[in-house]
Amino acid sequence: MKIIMLGAPGAGKGTQAKKIAGKYGIPHISTGDIFRANIKNGTELGKKAKTYMDQGLLVPDELVVDLVVDRVNQEDCTKGYVLDGFPRTIPQAEALDKALADVDQKIDYAINVEVPDENIVNRMSGRRACVSCGATYHLVYAPTKEEGICDNCQGSLILRDDDKPETVKKRLNVYHEQTQPLIDYYTKAGVLVEVDGTIDIDDVFAAIVKVLEEA
Ligand code: ADP
Ligand code: ADP
Ligand code: ZN
Repeated sequence: MKIIMLGAPGAGKGTQAKKIAGKYGIPHISTGDIFRANIKNGTELGKKAKTYMDQGLLVPDELVVDLVVDRVNQEDCTKGYVLDGFPRTIPQAEALDKALADVDQKIDYAINVEVPDENIVNRMSGRRACVSCGATYHLVYAPTKEEGICDNCQGSLILRDDDKPETVKKRLNVYHEQTQPLIDYYTKAGVLVEVDGTIDIDDVFAAIVKVLEEA
């Protein structure tokens, strides 16, 4: 089962991708997480990516495409995977399709998690991420048991720099211009699934599972 998560920043792609990966035993591949790990480790890729991420801009396609194509060709991806945060542009989608077609494969579902812009700034300002394991929480909608401490690993929680309202507005514009056209792209490919992302986390997940198990 090869799945792509689509949706605005903060729509809940990562939250749902982790649940799907857990239920079906397939890897969760988040390009944002890969970049943040590279930044933390001080790699060349991390240094390059950071200048774009800090401004709320997309990292150039050439820095992300090969990385994802290599990743999905690894052994643990043979049963499928959930891509979260990739593709984000039409050229990225085309590059992925081509790489998959070369090995006679294709994407099965592109799940669009729909949340209106008005809800997004609110979502993002309450998002907290664990510095150690990358787990994501929300102050109101997905709180930790103990404030400021990760439930998984006891790591400390931070507000991502790019989740501050000024950068979120920029990221939303970038989303509408560069990523939203993918909804049309995957509709034409016949694999688009729409889910309402404004309802409770568990209800969004139930809606996704229903679609995945209907087929
Ligand atoms: P969110 O989950 O809030 O949408 P991500 O963690 O997916 O954010 O991405 C954070 C940042 O990393 C993006 O704003 C962008 O700068 C960069 N990024 C992640 N994935 C991609 C991609 N596929 N193409 C270009 N830039 C990306
Ligand atoms: P994305 O990966 O699309 O950027 P996340 O999964 O990181 O989004 O979710 C953004 C924030 O919103 C997080 O703080 C998360 O806990 C919270 N969140 C996710 N889904 C929901 C939901 N259905 N209702 C309320 N809050 C949610
Ligand atoms: Zn943690």
